[in-house]
Amino acid sequence: MSATHDVPPNSQDELLDRYSHSLIPVFGRPQLVLERGDGAWVWDTDGKRYLDLVGGIAVNALGHNHPALVAAVSKQVAEMAHISNFYTSRVQVELAEQVLRIAGAPEGSGVFFANSGAEAVEGAIKLSRRTGRTGLVAAEGAFHGRTTGALALTHKAAYREPFAPLIPDVTHVPYNDIEALRAAVTTETAAVVLEPVQGEAGAVVADPAYLRAAREVTTAVGALLVIDEVQTGIGRTGDWFGFQESGIVPDAITLAKGLGGGLPIGALVTFGPGVTGLLTAGQHGSTFSGNPLVAAAGLSVLSTIEAEGLLDHVQAMGEHLVAAVAALDHPDVAGVRGRGLLRAIVLRSDLSAGVAAAARDAGFLVNAVAPDAIRLVPPLVVTRDELDLFVAALPALIATATTSATAAKEHTP
Ligand SMILES: *Cc1c(COP(=O)(O)O)cnc(C)c1O
Repeated sequence: MSATHDVPPNSQDELLDRYSHSLIPVFGRPQLVLERGDGAWVWDTDGKRYLDLVGGIAVNALGHNHPALVAAVSKQVAEMAHISNFYTSRVQVELAEQVLRIAGAPEGSGVFFANSGAEAVEGAIKLSRRTGRTGLVAAEGAFHGRTTGALALTHKAAYREPFAPLIPDVTHVPYNDIEALRAAVTTETAAVVLEPVQGEAGAVVADPAYLRAAREVTTAVGALLVIDEVQTGIGRTGDWFGFQESGIVPDAITLAKGLGGGLPIGALVTFGPGVTGLLTAGQHGSTFSGNPLVAAAGLSVLSTIEAEGLLDHVQAMGEHLVAAVAALDHPDVAGVRGRGLLRAIVLRSDLSAGVAAAARDAGFLVNAVAPDAIRLVPPLVVTRDELDLFVAALPALIATATTSATAAKEHTP
């Protein structure tokens, strides 16, 4: 093999080739090699700048390089990063208390820290087994993670089928269909698991009446109501949690993405002593669970959201985005779905992959979450001017995507 390179070392292409020779290809070929970020902006290894409207998939709540997160994590890593759950730390206890406070959880509630969303969902599944029942009801379009337990709740067949058989007794019902839910939930149901907004399905919002009906139906049969807030939680919808708008009190919620602002932490929160008492000493655990480093990150995320008034900001930015896209009055745009800063721009044809590619060339990161939907889950600190930059560029991006789709069709024999 020749030692000469066509491309300079450490260029995008060279690193992506090395990636494909060293990582299991589950993510396909990454779109870019990124190097650093600041606020809602990231830079690739060629120095090209992008407005990051993906936000690490709703993870980078405070954006990149936020001084509060940098300071909290730097201080904590210099003190101690990890200690095991034979011991606890001040930051772990404080984070649990703060999570319970913002969730409005009653006395006797509790937190189990996990390391990811899927693991938080695993905790919820184990919790549900402690009811003595095995039935689980989830929604069509649902995404609850990729570990084998959580995967059974995830709806997409292409994710599940290569790994069958998964845990049994899972029923998927049409989302937002109260009658279907009533019909599926019985005295054999351990838990109903629902997202307040289905992020991976393209920001499809639960009707508050649907969540209230889910509360009523589960209470009637003695099943748990688990709300998966992995994507919607921690301010993403403009409330601390997506369920809060409906006024219900769930039995448990699962958290992850935004909680650590980029550090890997998840949580299962159980509401009230009856539910919290279902898991007893020795029945669950995890080595990294809520270690001081990730707990310090979580505390700085929560305190910064409060200090910077980000819940109101998210609400305002979400409304602004909807209004700005509507004002384009673009014939190819059907509308904007979602809540807060969990949004999808819905197109009238399957152009989202082309739009996302054109956006990347033009310096915007967005996610083609469905063939006809572009998901925007930017950092909660994104500004009006930053959102306006993208909305102003959108007609040209759609035009580019349309042109390349037409050209591709003409070249197909
Ligand atoms: C992302 C997501 C998960 C899985 O989280 P991971 O950290 O990827 O395991 C679970 N539920 C919902 C609603 C999610 O959006």
